Amino acid sequence: MSEHPEPEFPPPDDDARVVRPNFITEVIDADLEAGRHRTVVTRFPPEPNGYLHIGHAMAIMLNLGLADDYRGHANLRFDDTNPITEDPKFVAAMKADIAWLGFEWDNLHHASDYFETLYGLALRLIEQGDAYVDSLSEEEIRDYRGTVTEPGQPSPYRNRTVTENLALFEGMRKGDFGEGEHVLRARIDMAARNMIMRDPLLYRIRHTPHYRTGSEWHIYPMYDFAHPLSDAIEGVTHSLCTLEFENNREFYDWLVERLFDEPRPHQYEFARLNLEYLITSKRKLIQLVEGGYVSGWDDPRMPTLAGLRRRGVTPEALRDLVDRTGVTKTNARNDYALLEYAIRDDLNSRAPRVMAVIDPLKVTITNLPNGSAKMLDAPYWPHDVPKDGSRPLPFSGSLWIERADFSEAPPEGWRRLSPGGSVRLRHAYVITCDEVITGDDDRVVELRCRYHPDSRGELPAGLAVSGVIHWLSAPQAVPAEFRLYERLFSEPVPGAGGKPFLEDLNLESLLQKRGFVEPSVVNDPSDTRYQFERHGYFWRDARDSTREGPVFNRIVTLRDSWGKAARTSKAGPTKNAARVDEAQPQTEEKPDLVADLTAAQRPLFERYRGLGVARDEAALIAGDSELTTFFDEVLSAHDDPVAVANWVVNDLRRELKGRALSDLPFDVGAFARLIALADDGTISTRAAKEVFEAMVAGEGDPDGIVAARGLKQVSDAGALEPLIAKVLGDNPDKVAAFRGGKTGLLGFFVGQAMRETRGAANPQLVRELLERALG
Ligand code: ATP
Ligand code: MG
Repeated sequence: MSEHPEPEFPPPDDDARVVRPNFITEVIDADLEAGRHRTVVTRFPPEPNGYLHIGHAMAIMLNLGLADDYRGHANLRFDDTNPITEDPKFVAAMKADIAWLGFEWDNLHHASDYFETLYGLALRLIEQGDAYVDSLSEEEIRDYRGTVTEPGQPSPYRNRTVTENLALFEGMRKGDFGEGEHVLRARIDMAARNMIMRDPLLYRIRHTPHYRTGSEWHIYPMYDFAHPLSDAIEGVTHSLCTLEFENNREFYDWLVERLFDEPRPHQYEFARLNLEYLITSKRKLIQLVEGGYVSGWDDPRMPTLAGLRRRGVTPEALRDLVDRTGVTKTNARNDYALLEYAIRDDLNSRAPRVMAVIDPLKVTITNLPNGSAKMLDAPYWPHDVPKDGSRPLPFSGSLWIERADFSEAPPEGWRRLSPGGSVRLRHAYVITCDEVITGDDDRVVELRCRYHPDSRGELPAGLAVSGVIHWLSAPQAVPAEFRLYERLFSEPVPGAGGKPFLEDLNLESLLQKRGFVEPSVVNDPSDTRYQFERHGYFWRDARDSTREGPVFNRIVTLRDSWGKAARTSKAGPTKNAARVDEAQPQTEEKPDLVADLTAAQRPLFERYRGLGVARDEAALIAGDSELTTFFDEVLSAHDDPVAVANWVVNDLRRELKGRALSDLPFDVGAFARLIALADDGTISTRAAKEVFEAMVAGEGDPDGIVAARGLKQVSDAGALEPLIAKVLGDNPDKVAAFRGGKTGLLGFFVGQAMRETRGAANPQLVRELLERALG
């Protein structure tokens, strides 16, 4: 069939994969099939300048998981080329976090191991005329680089001879020069459209010792130089990174093509994992630690793997989260509730239900002789979790209940305790409140209640209860501290609109409470996760707990607003049906954007609704004066309110990433033009997103980008027909199978035709033409 070498291992079964099939596995499958590679080699390349965060979980799972799936190799490579920010303590923490997440690397490398090799490769570039020593200052280099609209100017040092360059570069290495005196640059093209290709820096002088190489080096390679070459040195086949490196790919290829033969590594970009209310940038996280805003890198509010671990989140929950968000090519910010959902879904079946009283109120049982206690047997699991097991639960004449479970003047529909009312104590008896004792300040200090000895099973006749509450027997209850965590930031996108992100810190993200927990927990393994009934999921803080004084971290509440949203929309969790955990759910709706509008913004909202704009989109635009102005201006250039609102809310707002609209390198007209091009089918939706990203990157007007990148959609049947004929001609057996009834093959033909046109054909039209041709 083919003369290519067979891949070393067959591609995995879909069921057995760590990483669900995605656009990257498609590339890998194609490469293996075409014989470009026999085995898959990936790497996870963190820079040891902080702790790994939840976003890295995705990169780890992708790189190490894909190597597992394809039985290839995965390297852990510390990208340690910047001596100023790197530290061995981060190296150690990163290794521990990756292992905790459940992944293994095959080989451990450091970019600093390659300093000598990289230096040699730089010499080769110089000798080939592909690199030169520049002696302009940093500022001059910036000025000479030009702008997105103007080409750069060559440095006066650009034509130094090879001999001169070699001598200077060797002097740089030896430490003959001061920092900033010289740099090594690639000699490429000062007029390149891609600014990165305008003679990028390869080496700079730094008289800073490195944590691994000490004072051996006075020059350090730039990331853009070291990274592709490290990949090539290690024989990496698929170099996976996040979308912000898309523009670097051209230089990546330039470099490895000049210095290595095939098979060379190739770079593929995927969208970062972003979550509302979280920050995933080590540079920002370090500010939280160093500024004392949190107790350390492993503060349970931190989105670091160490913080999530200390909080009690399991690796399985994080892997599930990554799986749910999927691997894509478009930046999006995930709902925070998705994280909470994944955590609850994981804990539901692993956390026994026990009781804790966090804000205690004393209850005296008047008909139980003082000092006498009964031992009850209470199951650990609710009936929807198929597990057995129970624990002894003491009941006595002195109890704790939750202060919030009693009301002296209960509102209508009160399901808990009130004067004269009765409730069931979970797993125990019904009690009736006969007397309320208040202190000097009128605060309730004690309830005097009667218990109904025959009420453990069926309710005795004539007794009605308003609900079920949790409780503890006071003499046996264990005093405990409870740490209730809220989101660390109060805004979904911390630092949006150009504000310093620290200003969006939620000042009430930690609430410490002293209460009690039932005695059974004392004998449990210390890493047991619990559901404290009606409170949420908790586990012991390993650092601060003692046997006498346990400290419990709340991992996540029981609220299930995501589950509710999921039942009404398609965007919900993909795996298991949503579940409401609680008998009396403390419901929390998603924030209502409309309710937050001011009186002045309301009429705008109504007007947009009148134009057909969706409710949340209308509220978001009306609620932000900058967006309002922009939206109205775009509308006057392209009158399609629904499409424009969609672009403004979903694409523009996301790309702003904290910038002001006026900082964007395009104007209203260009934005309106882009939407028009997408609306009239000149370009596909996918191409439109690409054009938009290019516009954000400053590549100019949409028509220019469409032309330069050949994105115009082919919607001309005459032009497509020969192509359709070719696809059918190339696949006679599939055509026969289709005609024999395997109509599912239509998708295959569409895919082939789209590939032939590199995605430029109008897929709708392709489908129609194929259907016609196939009869
Ligand atoms: P940070 O800004 O947090 O320092 P980084 O990208 O500079 O992030 P690196 O140490 O260079 O951090 O990251 C190692 C790898 O992890 C890179 O390949 C990077 O693309 C990937 N990565 C970083 N953040 C995310 C994220 N939020 N989602 C997915 N992958 C990520
Ligand atoms: Mg980085």
